[in-house]
Amino acid sequence: MITLKNITKTYGGSAQVQALKGINLTIEDGEIFGIIGKSGAGKSTLVRCINMLEKPTSGQVIIDDKDLTKMSESQLRAERKNIGMIFQHFNLLSSRTVAENIAFPLELIGASKDVIEKKVASLLDLVGLSDRAGNYPSQLSGGQKQRVGIARALASDPKILLCDEATSALDPQTTKSILELLQDINKRLGITIVVITHEMAVVKEICHRVAVIESGVIKEMGRVVDIFTNP
Ligand code: ADP
Ligand code: ADP
Repeated sequence: MITLKNITKTYGGSAQVQALKGINLTIEDGEIFGIIGKSGAGKSTLVRCINMLEKPTSGQVIIDDKDLTKMSESQLRAERKNIGMIFQHFNLLSSRTVAENIAFPLELIGASKDVIEKKVASLLDLVGLSDRAGNYPSQLSGGQKQRVGIARALASDPKILLCDEATSALDPQTTKSILELLQDINKRLGITIVVITHEMAVVKEICHRVAVIESGVIKEMGRVVDIFTNP
């Protein structure tokens, strides 16, 4: 379970921006949770607070009874293995093949060659890219690149997957196939998924619950069927 308690985030400098103004939120294990809102609403800041890539100015981030805001950098590094992330522009390493991109986080944690090989093969199979292992990112379509991003994010067996506008750079049909893959991962691996998007259709398609964020405040939160059904 992910609990955010009264999270605020003010970006520093002279022009102080209050990006988050007291966010309270609980995301259950196994849920697909959507965070929706206009550009600049604070979605990206919020999701980056979940893995502490962004340090909240105040408030608590509690994951499975552990308060991440009280952890040292080395404790956080260990904790982040439980939290995978994918991005709008994929963030793949262009000089590495598909297989090498997926292997990267495993190399960082010092996994053996044997373990890496098996894990990469099973992840390639999971995302449907077994025949692309030796290709470079530049040789892939957008949808295929995001599949590599997903495989890499799952390499350390996380319990949580954060998706920051993961389908925003993709056409509608490719978006659909990536959303189906995320649903499949949620069902088969039981991974909790947090989806940030400005696209209502994405939320309607896969999310169980959703929070609508506006100027750093949650305006509405609930089941997708309740929030998007007009009276
Ligand atoms: P969203 O993801 O909904 O587009 P963001 O979380 O990226 O929103 O941004 C929320 C607000 O915080 C915006 O006003 C944005 O300009 C500001 N902001 C985001 N990142 C930074 C930063 N690193 N430094 C200063 N301001 C930032
Ligand atoms: P594109 O950008 O080329 O449309 P997609 O992400 O839609 O990329 O799909 C890439 C390839 O993987 C396609 O050939 C598709 O048929 C195949 N594919 C899609 N989902 C799966 C899956 N779950 N398992 C295996 N193969 C898949």
